[in-house]
Amino acid sequence: MGMFDSLIIPCLFCKKEIEEQTKNGPCDLKYYKWDDADLPVWMMETFNDTEIECYHCERTFRIVFNFEVVVRDRRLETVDNLSMLELEQMRKEEEEQGG
Ligand SMILES: [Zn+2]
Repeated sequence: MGMFDSLIIPCLFCKKEIEEQTKNGPCDLKYYKWDDADLPVWMMETFNDTEIECYHCERTFRIVFNFEVVVRDRRLETVDNLSMLELEQMRKEEEEQGG
């Protein structure tokens, strides 16, 4: 039906926002920002360690989510955030190589 959900992430290189669409979730046309406190686990799993190509500057980078699962009252709860440290490191390396 052409339905999907979107993750909004900043490009590591040009800092512009990129929209990545997925049909892995409930597909209710919701937009999530990478640093949303309520970013769902399925969204993190979908894009964890995947290569993203920026459609602004056409450079590619990888995003890694750090999330831990905490079992409480038989329900799964999550604490999550994107590992920007790793991204910064990759960006530095790229800059050094590119001169
Ligand atoms: Zn870019």
